[in-house]
Amino acid sequence: MQDNIEIRNPATGVVEALLPSTTTIELDAMMRLLKHGQRDWVKVPLQDRLDCILRFGQLISANKQELAEILTKETGKPIIQSYNEIGGAQNRIDHLQQNAVKWLSEEVIISEGATLENIRYEPLGVIANISAWNFPYNVGFNVFLYALVAGNAVLYKPSEFAALTGQQFAKYLYQAGIPDNVFQCVVGGGQIGQHMLSLSLDGYFFTGSYKTGLHIATTVAHKLVPVQLELGGKDPLYVAEDVTDVRRAAISAAEGAFYNNGQSCCAVERIYVSEKIYDQFVEAFVEEVASYTVGDPMDADTFIGPLTRAAQLNILADQVIDALEKGAKLRLGGHSLEGNGYYYAPTVFENCNHSMALMLDETFGPLIGIQKVSSDDEATNLMQDTKYGLTAAVFSSDRDRAMRILEKMDTGTVYWNCCDRVSPNVPWSGRRNSGLGSTLSIQGIRAFVQPKAYHLRP
Ligand code: NDP
Repeated sequence: MQDNIEIRNPATGVVEALLPSTTTIELDAMMRLLKHGQRDWVKVPLQDRLDCILRFGQLISANKQELAEILTKETGKPIIQSYNEIGGAQNRIDHLQQNAVKWLSEEVIISEGATLENIRYEPLGVIANISAWNFPYNVGFNVFLYALVAGNAVLYKPSEFAALTGQQFAKYLYQAGIPDNVFQCVVGGGQIGQHMLSLSLDGYFFTGSYKTGLHIATTVAHKLVPVQLELGGKDPLYVAEDVTDVRRAAISAAEGAFYNNGQSCCAVERIYVSEKIYDQFVEAFVEEVASYTVGDPMDADTFIGPLTRAAQLNILADQVIDALEKGAKLRLGGHSLEGNGYYYAPTVFENCNHSMALMLDETFGPLIGIQKVSSDDEATNLMQDTKYGLTAAVFSSDRDRAMRILEKMDTGTVYWNCCDRVSPNVPWSGRRNSGLGSTLSIQGIRAFVQPKAYHLRP
């Protein structure tokens, strides 16, 4: 029997659509289809594969109004941020157009002499792309576009909270010329994702929580196929007293913490501020967050919409109670909002410390803690006091000073005077509980191929 998944609008709590879940029988059939299709796809010239991706990008652009409305309806993302995400993710396509031929072409290492040596890059085969809901364009494009260009077939499972968007990806990939035996979209929750782990896939590329990522990695470990994990974070930001403009630093930090309602893997999740500018920073920060428009995500003025998942409201409530009990000072918010949607007031705490859950555990919502520090060393130690290793940021007018701190961060990405930023030019990777492997850049495409060494004696 086929189950349905409910697509609920987080702004209203109303069910907007029912989608039939993929059954395990359908999933097995998809797998057979993709195994067959991938054998032909790899023979399609690379330039033709790139042309399909280019057309896909053009179709996404041409339909961005409808796509932005779908994304906002199912995730509650403010409509302007949906447009930003759809437009911004196109930079992956441009980057692939500029670099894929160079990165995937045969490399001639030794071209003269008795033995010639070359490297060719072959696709992995059929890969699983199990994805999160918070930035479905960015995290989806990072995997399935690069995988397809490299000659793989893709079994894509969007989160059930972004399933309508996932179906749109399939629709436009097919229209762009990607055969349906090269890309298939699975609809359903964790249960159907679990069944994907038992299939004979040639690689698992996952974006989501540490808990699910660990479960996937351990379940498929015996297959000895590549596993890549893009997981959560507890990303710190330190504001030194020599920062050029305290107010500007506060505005940047607030945007890093509250963009997409704090539901970003690289959202600023904790802030450390030099005691010399602490009061000034906190006042500017609170003033900025208080100015955010909270409301209907379809409204172009809204900066803070509802949370995507109702269950996250409890996590925020628990972190607030814990922070209050342990002496943090509530400056703004601290409660959910009346009404049917999953709204939580933008919340700012100061006087925080590392006994509090909001400084240690991923929050993934519109809630931030600020802690006062007396030196760079203290800030460095606190920034490193975490299980996660996604990003870390320092705001200072002194590049050398910032670099000394950033070099000590055990994170995949560091930022000087910026934060909450991803670029296709450089690898995106997490360390420790934030993940394994890289997307984007040359590393991000090489993740979808395996090198073959040729030793040739003419
Ligand atoms: P989850 O781990 O809950 O889910 C991720 C995906 O895994 C979803 O498609 C989910 O399905 C699926 N899934 C759940 N259980 C299983 C299972 N047993 N087997 C296979 N698949 C399964 O994460 P979220 O979607 O809630 O995403 C939020 C997390 O993602 C945060 O921690 C965030 O920091 C992280 N993230 C990391 C990024 C990075 O680049 N480092 C980028 C974006 C997010 P379903 O949702 O349908 O239940």
